[in-house]
Amino acid sequence: MIYLDHAATTPVPRAVADEMYRVLTEEYGNPSSQYPLGRQAAAEVARGRQVVARALDCAPEQLRFTSCGTESDNWAISAALHQNRHVGKHIITTAIEHSAVLEPCRRLAQEGYELTVLQPNRRGIITAEQVAQALRPDTALVSMMLVNNELGTVCPVAEVAGLLRGSKSRALLHTDAVQGFLKTEFPLTELGADLISISAHKIGGPKGVGALYLGQRLRNPRPLLPGGGQEGGLRSGTEATAQIAGFAKAVELWQAELPQRLDHMARLRRYAQEQLTAIPGVQLVGDGAAPHVLCVSMEGYPSQNVVEDLGAQGICLSAGSACHKGRPSHVISALNLPKKVAAGVLRFSFGPETTFEEIDAAAAALRRHRETRFPML
Ligand code: PLP
Repeated sequence: MIYLDHAATTPVPRAVADEMYRVLTEEYGNPSSQYPLGRQAAAEVARGRQVVARALDCAPEQLRFTSCGTESDNWAISAALHQNRHVGKHIITTAIEHSAVLEPCRRLAQEGYELTVLQPNRRGIITAEQVAQALRPDTALVSMMLVNNELGTVCPVAEVAGLLRGSKSRALLHTDAVQGFLKTEFPLTELGADLISISAHKIGGPKGVGALYLGQRLRNPRPLLPGGGQEGGLRSGTEATAQIAGFAKAVELWQAELPQRLDHMARLRRYAQEQLTAIPGVQLVGDGAAPHVLCVSMEGYPSQNVVEDLGAQGICLSAGSACHKGRPSHVISALNLPKKVAAGVLRFSFGPETTFEEIDAAAAALRRHRETRFPML
């Protein structure tokens, strides 16, 4: 099996699974219980929070665990709009956001909010200048992702944070950093965003746990889930102790080798770009700068067929976001590419375990596909 779909999800290292097993079987108490077993479970959660908070360079109390990146995105949007309900009902976001941001924004638009959706250029780039032009006194929220999951393009989140500060805007800034977490040398709070969404399963952690960073400008955030008062009273529900411990273990493993991992993935990406674009008819799509995502198109060869053909040979890659399940992706549509280029879009994404030999094998399989299949008319 050659797994080149790390932007969809990542394999869980043995040490992470072992840690989760330990917590599941030994530390199974409810963290709210007032006897040693419960207190030990609470200590696991506290330790996990410290580890993840350290990776973001924030105080543990600024980090709240959620069930996934999607939940973090939804919460960030509702928390910002609730706090800024007296500022206005204008939201700025981008056409290349994940559905976890776009869909809640669309729903809000049906409920009376006004949405400005910034369009990327053909290379998938959105500029801070576009945000500056869209900004209004009644803008309550700017939601701009850090790394696009389909193209690997990087949005100018730090520049936008500076712009909002400089213009004395009251808009809160949210960044969906699900694909950016631990893919940069610097901790993400340096970006200056008020809200940051992350998810464990993109960095070797388990599925079913994410987190939201709530910065200082979030005063008394509205609880997402009122109830028993867990997560500082903001997100009730018995803590997912094993998931949180697995998340923390994955962060520790990743952080211990952060520069090496980023360098390895960036070298793989460059190599894959060289190998793949050497195949006739294959071109780069998007000006991706993230180390782990490479988007290309084999013009005229429908990506769904390629994904199935290579998948049958044990090579896993994506026809775009795994969340789209065969439907044309809104991100690729936003690039306004010629139809045959858009139809042929393939996403290769890499992790620390990926090897150069695996890229050679995938490139050879893609070349064979092109030589043996008929293109679309
Ligand atoms: N945001 C981005 C950019 C993503 O790539 C993903 C997952 O693919 C999500 C949000 C959703 O994260 P989760 O799967 O943890 O809900």
